[in-house]
Amino acid sequence: MSKTPDHMPVGTMSGTPQVLLAHHLKQLKLPTVLREYDKVARECAQAGIDHPRYLLRLIELELIDRERRTIERRIRAARFPAVKSFDTFDFTAIPSLNKMLVLELARSEYILRRENIIALGNSGTGKTHVALALGLAACQKGFTVAFTTAAALVSQLMEARDERRLLKLQRDLAAVKLLIVDELGYVPLSSTGAELLFEVFSQRYERGSTIVTSNLPFEDWTQVLGSERLTGALLDRLTHHVSILTMNGDSYRLKQSAGRRRAAARAEQNQASHAMADPDTGEIPTP
Ligand code: ADP
Ligand code: MG
Repeated sequence: MSKTPDHMPVGTMSGTPQVLLAHHLKQLKLPTVLREYDKVARECAQAGIDHPRYLLRLIELELIDRERRTIERRIRAARFPAVKSFDTFDFTAIPSLNKMLVLELARSEYILRRENIIALGNSGTGKTHVALALGLAACQKGFTVAFTTAAALVSQLMEARDERRLLKLQRDLAAVKLLIVDELGYVPLSSTGAELLFEVFSQRYERGSTIVTSNLPFEDWTQVLGSERLTGALLDRLTHHVSILTMNGDSYRLKQSAGRRRAAARAEQNQASHAMADPDTGEIPTP
């Protein structure tokens, strides 16, 4: 026999539909509707907006939020070492880089055409920054992205091979719409490593886009990959449909720190001249 309480707990009567609604909205995965429906209802009531428009407004909010959440998930899945965009990239610092081409590439249409990008240049010229910004742009345009370095990718492949899960990794690597392989050239690869890397590029050929950055000009890639035959075959696939970004110039980092050193030297000089200055007027006495 159920015992009826003599009075309903406070809030239960008015709370029940809200509780059920919250439960259902969670089940339907509509967190924004859940968060906003009450506030938007009050706004709509005040503005005399009818029910279909109220519902439309709520659903639109959910869609906008869902898109944002999907982009955030794609960015996390890409495993960028840092999130960088073109907003913080100073094109004037690297005149050898074709800005128009880069901005065109930032539209990510090359990914639909399954074309590749190779950024070549000495250290510190912004290759990784540009690759990250292109990766971010691709995530925002709805493409799946994976970021790695050549060395990390090769050791991942070797490990997968040893653990007999190479096929799965290769399938995963072939499936992303944009694979970014940073820093090809800093570490020479073993012959197995080079073969495995070649297979990745080969499997992606005309199926997905790849961005490669390297500090070495093409003629030196044999040093990294070990074999001329393999380098030829790899470059053949990679450069069939490709945009090449030439990024030769002064290291941005060095320039920045040189700038800081100059600023520090100036500050020191100022201090020194202040030390000589008249303590009351701050003026440097003229002889
Ligand atoms: P690389 O990969 O060519 O060695 P990075 O992209 O790592 O160079 O650049 C080194 C640092 O300098 C990074 O912090 C990067 O964000 C910054 N940087 C390089 N070039 C630029 C630039 N043109 N504008 C703004 N920041 C830059
Ligand atoms: Mg780099």
